[in-house]
Amino acid sequence: MNCFSLYDLWKCSNQNFIYTNKLFYEIFFDTRCIINGKIGVYFCFEKNFDQAKNYINEAIEKQVIAIVSPFKINIKKCPILIYHNPIQLLQKFAKKYFSQFEHLKKIAITGSNGKTIVKEWLFQCLNDHYSIIHSPNNYNSQIGVPLAVLQTQYKHKIGIFECGISLPNEMKNIENIIQPHIGILTNINKKHVENFSCTKQLIEEKCLLFNNVKTIFCYCNNYFMYNFFKEKFKKQEIIIIGEKKFCDIQLCFFKKNYIYIRIFSKKYCFKVQIQNRNILFNLLILISVLYHLGFSTIAIQEKILRLQPITMCLKITHGIFNSMIMCDTYGLNLLSMKIAINKLKYLFNKKTIIIIIDSLLNKKSYFNLYKDIINFLNSIIVDHIFLIGQFKKKHKIISTNSISFFVSINSFINSFNKVNISNASILIKGYQIFKLKKFINTLENQSHNTLLEINLNSIYHNIKFFRNCLNKRTKIMAMVKANAYGISEYQIAKFLQYYKIDYLCVAYSDEGVILRQNGIYIPIMVMNISNNSYDDIINYNLEPEIYSLKILTIFLNKLKEKKYIKKKFSIHIKIDTGMHRLGFQKFEIHNLIKKIKKNMLYIDVKSIFTHLVATENKKDYNFILKQINLFEQCYKQIIEQLDCNPLKHVLNTHGVINYLNYQFDMVRIGIGIYGLLSNNNKHVLKNVITLKSKISQIICLKKGDSVGYNRIFIAKKNIKIGTLPIGYADGIFRKLGNTNFSVLINNKKIKIIGAICMDMMMINIKQNNYNEGQEVIIYGEKNSINNIAKLCETIPYEILTSISVRIKRIFIEI
Ligand SMILES: *Cc1c(COP(=O)(O)O)cnc(C)c1O
Repeated sequence: MNCFSLYDLWKCSNQNFIYTNKLFYEIFFDTRCIINGKIGVYFCFEKNFDQAKNYINEAIEKQVIAIVSPFKINIKKCPILIYHNPIQLLQKFAKKYFSQFEHLKKIAITGSNGKTIVKEWLFQCLNDHYSIIHSPNNYNSQIGVPLAVLQTQYKHKIGIFECGISLPNEMKNIENIIQPHIGILTNINKKHVENFSCTKQLIEEKCLLFNNVKTIFCYCNNYFMYNFFKEKFKKQEIIIIGEKKFCDIQLCFFKKNYIYIRIFSKKYCFKVQIQNRNILFNLLILISVLYHLGFSTIAIQEKILRLQPITMCLKITHGIFNSMIMCDTYGLNLLSMKIAINKLKYLFNKKTIIIIIDSLLNKKSYFNLYKDIINFLNSIIVDHIFLIGQFKKKHKIISTNSISFFVSINSFINSFNKVNISNASILIKGYQIFKLKKFINTLENQSHNTLLEINLNSIYHNIKFFRNCLNKRTKIMAMVKANAYGISEYQIAKFLQYYKIDYLCVAYSDEGVILRQNGIYIPIMVMNISNNSYDDIINYNLEPEIYSLKILTIFLNKLKEKKYIKKKFSIHIKIDTGMHRLGFQKFEIHNLIKKIKKNMLYIDVKSIFTHLVATENKKDYNFILKQINLFEQCYKQIIEQLDCNPLKHVLNTHGVINYLNYQFDMVRIGIGIYGLLSNNNKHVLKNVITLKSKISQIICLKKGDSVGYNRIFIAKKNIKIGTLPIGYADGIFRKLGNTNFSVLINNKKIKIIGAICMDMMMINIKQNNYNEGQEVIIYGEKNSINNIAKLCETIPYEILTSISVRIKRIFIEI
């Protein structure tokens, strides 16, 4: 593992020195992911002082060696380096470190799409010949690039780095760190190219990466861009790649499994396994770079046929024996291994099992990489490691964790004891995971062909959307009642905690208990408390919504009975301002205050809130304002007499959209997390939920044949129909049957016919050539839950919460 010295880090800051020769091995920038603090330095990138202080304290608790902070904070437990812009310091440090590898050939890749694929493919093709450092996953940002270059070692001969930008002026920094020799520009979005003048700035910005390179490879499919490049890069050798005649390397045409290309003046034909046009251009870039590096066309042909599919995705599912299974198909390198393990350890702090499979590397670098990974794993506790690859006895590896080596997939599968994975979280990592597909399917217990796919990137996007709407100090309470609107028992809550949501809210105390038992430590409000929930509330540190004097009295008695005086217990007061469900009416506030005053030793009013009756649109504007007005009177009355300062909150998802001025201290977001808004604003959120199934059987019907119960559907001509293994017991409303709704196959609408059965339904595939096993999207981005809700005369909430628990949930990150 690479090591760095505190002395060098301090020196980089140019402001003061540290007299120590202490070394560190890791850079932490996310306190959640510090597993073994004793080996690293924490860089605090937080801009809010209070929040930064919290993170720094957490890092100290985790015993980090030193801290870099943008704020002056007085700490004694470890050295602290104050630097106004820690990201900039990290970049300076990385640049300094990286500059010592003068012999390294550096390739930098940018563009709108295809960066990661081109990077991973180049790696796959070159690593037979050279020892390579390449950036992990999609670590291409202001932080990702420095972290990636800090992994470089003397043995590396080629560095391949992916570079992305989200704001102007960022590329300059990245160029300055890497100073690449070869630049690659993959595809720039079609949309962008059409209004080239508008996005000229973007392309110019991206091209800053190439200011000092020798050679540039540009994908280019229009004349404007061509001229732009030729104008701009007069000093550099520039190789234009694309379909047009003016290209230096041109895709002439492709037919079935062959592509015909022209490289300068010579024509070649290559056999390929790829059909997708956009991906073909990435392949063309790859071929161009290999050609430039001196590989013969025969060698190139052999390499491109061996390319491994790159799915690049992280998938998390529930497995057999109460295990959690995380499949990570990002390329294997040390940093990407660390990222995966950090996530696994954070999300599921259970028994940890790691399975690594990859035999793509050349034997020597392969062994070195495994050694590095095992060294890293020695610094954390793992229950068992399985390595599948080409091992030789002479390769001695010292591991403090228990470890098994396998030279073949079969020997691994035969000796793997599934019972041992009970209650474990399992990481399966490597490009070649697909070779373990059957094995993984048995672990995941994939007996059912229907899946509910939950896109975590979209959830993150949606939360960010709401954060951006709100003032900086406004907190977000995520409503995860009813198993997060029917989506998952505790996983969604866990991801929300990972995304640093401030508060969670459930309906009943047993839901809160499940969250606590699964490692959720952020505050949880419970809305409906009853006689048998008080013990759980107290034992699991849940925070009750107090909605009547009666329950306050019982709760206080319980606290007194348990002699609960370690600290004040947090409660939330609900005011009824018009919903007339639960809550104090205005006339009761006086007595409430009296009661609380008498018991200040036991309880702390953490928040006061009300619920608005109609926020989807502004139709009930006057009523809503009346509600808010009444609420504010009650709030004022309470805080004046109790002399406290509780959080004040009224808005739900649509409240934030339509009544943003009343965000107060916190908002309560539910349906918005899942990307479902009822009005035209819906495009601002991303789709989270996709329900998929597979055709289990296809049969042919003759004209006049009927389908399903009560012969609702009669074929008007000869057709083919397919049966899907999902029905009303899974939450597919019967209203959707009888040609009322269509599922999607390859984006094509296919009608549901006949009556929907309990566990199955039938679709009319007409004369389309589908096979059994064909994937079908029942709803998702293009086939929205909102439409279904309308058709069924209900709201998206009811559709979500009706998805049956027997449908397997899969969480993905792409
Ligand atoms: C469910 C609930 C919310 C969230 O509503 P959405 O419309 O899903 O955002 C907010 N507040 C209370 C009291 C709730 O019960």
